[in-house]
Amino acid sequence: MAKSSFGLTVRAQMLGSQQDSNFLLVAAGGVAGVLKVANPAFSAAEIEAQDAAAGVIAADAELRAATVRHGPATVAVDGEPALARVLTYLPGGTLTGPGYLSPHVVEGLGTVAGRVSLALRPFTHPGLDRVLQWDLRHADRVVGVLAGHVRDAGLRARVTDAVAAAWGRVQALAAGLPVQAVHGDVTDDNVVCTIRRGLRIPDGVIDFGDLTSSWAVGELAVAITSVLRHAGAEPCSVRPAMRAFHRLRPLSAAEAAALWPLVVLRAAVLVVSGEQQAAIDDGNDYVTGALEHERRCFERAVSVPAEVMTGLILAELGLGGEPRRVPPGRVLNLGRCAVLDMSVQSDAVDQGAWLEPQLGDRLAEAMLADGYDAVATRFGEARLTESRTLAEVSPATVATGIDLWLAAPVELPAEAGVEGLVLTLSRDRTRVHVGLRAAGAPEIPPLVRPEYAAGWLALAADPAPLLGLAPGPAQGAADLLGRRAASFAAVQEHYYADPPRIERGWRQHLAATDGRVYLDMVNNVAVLGHSHPRVEAAAARQLRRLNTNSRFNYAAVVDFSERLAGLLPAPLDTVFLVNSGSEAVDLALRLALVSTGHQDVVAVREAYHGWTYASDAVSTSTADNPGALTTRPAWVHAVDPPNAYRGRYRGAQAGRYAADAVRAIAGLAAAGRPPAAFLAEPFYGNAGGMPLPDGYLAAVYAEVRRHGGLAIADEVQVGYGRLGHWFWGFEQQGVVPDVVTVAKAMGNGYPLGAVVTSRQIAARYRDAGYFFSSTGGSPVSSVIGLTVLDVIADEGLQANAARVGGHLKARLEELAGRHELIGAVHGSGLYLGVELVRDRGTLEPATEETMAICDRMLELGVIIQPTSDRMCVLKIKPPLCLDIAGADYFADALDRVLTEGW
Ligand code: PMP
Repeated sequence: MAKSSFGLTVRAQMLGSQQDSNFLLVAAGGVAGVLKVANPAFSAAEIEAQDAAAGVIAADAELRAATVRHGPATVAVDGEPALARVLTYLPGGTLTGPGYLSPHVVEGLGTVAGRVSLALRPFTHPGLDRVLQWDLRHADRVVGVLAGHVRDAGLRARVTDAVAAAWGRVQALAAGLPVQAVHGDVTDDNVVCTIRRGLRIPDGVIDFGDLTSSWAVGELAVAITSVLRHAGAEPCSVRPAMRAFHRLRPLSAAEAAALWPLVVLRAAVLVVSGEQQAAIDDGNDYVTGALEHERRCFERAVSVPAEVMTGLILAELGLGGEPRRVPPGRVLNLGRCAVLDMSVQSDAVDQGAWLEPQLGDRLAEAMLADGYDAVATRFGEARLTESRTLAEVSPATVATGIDLWLAAPVELPAEAGVEGLVLTLSRDRTRVHVGLRAAGAPEIPPLVRPEYAAGWLALAADPAPLLGLAPGPAQGAADLLGRRAASFAAVQEHYYADPPRIERGWRQHLAATDGRVYLDMVNNVAVLGHSHPRVEAAAARQLRRLNTNSRFNYAAVVDFSERLAGLLPAPLDTVFLVNSGSEAVDLALRLALVSTGHQDVVAVREAYHGWTYASDAVSTSTADNPGALTTRPAWVHAVDPPNAYRGRYRGAQAGRYAADAVRAIAGLAAAGRPPAAFLAEPFYGNAGGMPLPDGYLAAVYAEVRRHGGLAIADEVQVGYGRLGHWFWGFEQQGVVPDVVTVAKAMGNGYPLGAVVTSRQIAARYRDAGYFFSSTGGSPVSSVIGLTVLDVIADEGLQANAARVGGHLKARLEELAGRHELIGAVHGSGLYLGVELVRDRGTLEPATEETMAICDRMLELGVIIQPTSDRMCVLKIKPPLCLDIAGADYFADALDRVLTEGW
């Protein structure tokens, strides 16, 4: 057909389509286009309109559209005439298939739908005048006619019921819904993407077969319905598309209110049409394969009541009204009533109490025993007590009513009407639940998931005034990031574009204000786990007694110095106490410069050591400071990163890094600039926790010492037991440095740092230099430092790092066997790195993918971030109390993301 009608010499490859016949045409020089044979049911005017509309859309510089290259020509299909033409082929692929769609991709889909809608607004053509089953204006009739094809009676009933309800809603709004030309099928199957740095950017549209006049908002409804069939999608997943569409082509309140009912109608039409097609075209794999997706799509569309989705959509688009208020007037007199706060910020949930089942009951009973007549919870509060750890979706935490515990039985009104609202009172074993919902609204569960809370709460009202109580917490996100941007220097970045607001930590868990709990895989500072009670108690006790500077004579600073020195081999017996890793590195460099009289320092490229002048000077990681390599002062000399995976020397060749570094040091000495120090992490942290090549530090330390310089080991990240098998990183190399810097883990988050060196080096510094830190080694710092060491020992955390880290590494290595993207798994104990590459041969870093995977992991309840100069390594350095369940959860979540997409 391509040859006879269009003179093309090509190979044709069948493409799926529900109604037309499509073929990819491949010529000698590559893809020549797509041959489209229209369903003979379509008229020439209709096809002309489709081609004209494609031209209109292609004229938008931001959009790609498949336009006509050859034809149309009349061809014979099974003896019947049909119109064929060759369209441009848009490379990049569509969003088709069941894989995960990220919020960025969903937003892109909404943007394409919005731009298409804008482009088609003025478009008119006689070919738009057609009656199509895909036109949502006919959805009730289509379902009425085709529902009989749905073989499963239960599904059939659910579809027809849902359509009746949705149709009623849309009809009530129909007069206010503008009609225009719509593409009608801007879906995952028909939106094409440009692949930019490994990620899909939707930017084009194909298949104009459903072009017609219809409700403009239908364009968006069709697009977002297609999101629902993808892995992990649920009704709230469509929000980015909705917002993007609304930004380009603002929805009216009527359109916003019609949107979810239209989604339900679209999903229903897909189900009944799919079943009908399957019945008449049994051999069409495209049709039968899609059926399962269409059903899933429908089930998801109706999984949340349409009223709730509408409330959510209105709130999301800024079209929602004020919260419903209750006219004053008490229904119940509670007497002396205490308020029970179970939010993340409540003192009642301290020290992991939120994990206790029935905490609310226990606390309420204690309050009643204290003499209160009643205890009440708060409307709209996200309760941490309802959360779960290791949960892939957010638990229902937001209260839609008030729970009451009563000292004495109270006569409850069965159901009282309050001007357009329905008061519901229900009792369980221990409490009375008071709810207030709009008349006609569906039943509201006592707790709802935070993503849907705005939708549910729009149907409810705070019953507090009826009980003589103060209203619950204000709803709506406070603009914390805006305030942060206005007051906090921007160079102090935050994790994630849209970060959860974390206000509590417990062990390896972090809790957000919406009650979601995340597994913290990134906090190497909170080595013991967050909010350790022994640290808290020690700090509080010492803060009550004394906190001053180390020029005073008190025991804690001596005890702590002895203890730290005792952890290090001879001759490292002398301690300086500071407040951070940067200060420790800065001081270590000063010790070296002053005690050797030399002026140069050799450091390793792609490393980070701090932000102070000197520690920044030796920091060459471009991930932390993009200008790091061009702003080196002349006294800093950087040697190659000894990266055995992707550096200059790999695998068995990695032994050569030492010789190069030795040569560099010897060269400096020969040039009359013998270095004062060689400074490096003794286990390569910034690269994701890689051991240095065997013998590396022994050789380099020997050379720098031969020229009178010092060996400085920066143990700020890797020391203190994290590596599992070794307490200090330098032990792995079988060397003893001259100076060790420590921080981070030392204080479990309280600012502590230390430099430990020999008596002799400290004495040389004493003679030529000066050191005093107002808070370094303070009684509180020292006591915290001692407690952290006690807990590491008492709770066996180093051994736990070896055990759980070993298990996790094995799990990650198993994933590497199944997922091409994992290039390597680095690390030891609970300092692990999963390096992601686009190609295992070239090791092209999968930088954007790594960030996208981190975002998806957050959705699944895991906090993880990238590291390395290429930002392509997942850095795994959780609190050392991580257990096997947490490690498995992380590995399973990563497996899921690598399987479903990101
Ligand atoms: N050295 C290393 C190896 C580090 O990783 C860091 C912090 N990331 C520092 C020094 C600086 O420590 P701080 O942030 O406590 O100043």
